[in-house]
Amino acid sequence: MRIVLLGAPGSGKGTQAALLKEMYGIPHIATGDILRTEVAEGTELGGKAERYMNEGGLVPDDLILEMVEARVRRPDTRRGWLMDGFPRTLEQAEGLRIMTERIEQRVDAGVILNVDPEVVVRRLSGRRVCESCQAVTNVSEMRAGACPLCGGKLVLRPDDEPQVVRRRIEVFEQQTRPVFEYFREHYDVVDIDASKTVDQVTEALRRGLDRYDHS
Ligand code: AMP
Repeated sequence: MRIVLLGAPGSGKGTQAALLKEMYGIPHIATGDILRTEVAEGTELGGKAERYMNEGGLVPDDLILEMVEARVRRPDTRRGWLMDGFPRTLEQAEGLRIMTERIEQRVDAGVILNVDPEVVVRRLSGRRVCESCQAVTNVSEMRAGACPLCGGKLVLRPDDEPQVVRRRIEVFEQQTRPVFEYFREHYDVVDIDASKTVDQVTEALRRGLDRYDHS
């Protein structure tokens, strides 16, 4: 099962991908998570990516395509994968199509998480990440400012600062939204209303994706 999750920042891609990964037993490949690890470890790629990330811009396509290909070639992807945060430009979408043909991995479907702009701003400005276990939570769920999973300290991601959020939404509208149409032309697409609650969205995804479960 090979699924690409598409949606604006704050549409719930990461939250839903973590749940779907458990449900279907396939790896969750999140380009943002891979990049944050590269930055934290101080690798060459991390050094190149950090500036773009902190400004709310996109990391150059060639770096992303190379990184994704290295990841999907790892042996744990034999039964499938769930892509989150990629592709974000038409060039990446074309790169994905060429790459999957070359390595003989067929994409089953794209999932588009549709969400209103006001919901995006509310979710991102309320998002906090645990410094210890990296769990993502929202101010509405915080208990006395601590991570609900491990009790660790919750912090704002540098790119969730309000002015960076505005820039990320602009970049999404200009560069990433056209990828939705690209997917509609080339792949099966499952449309989901992602303004609903986490449980409702997960249930809609399960219903929409069950026919691609080849396990
Ligand atoms: P995310 O966690 O998916 O919101 O990604 C965080 C940041 O990493 C983005 O704002 C970009 O700067 C960078 N990033 C993640 N995925 C990509 C991608 N596919 N192409 C370019 N930049 C990316």
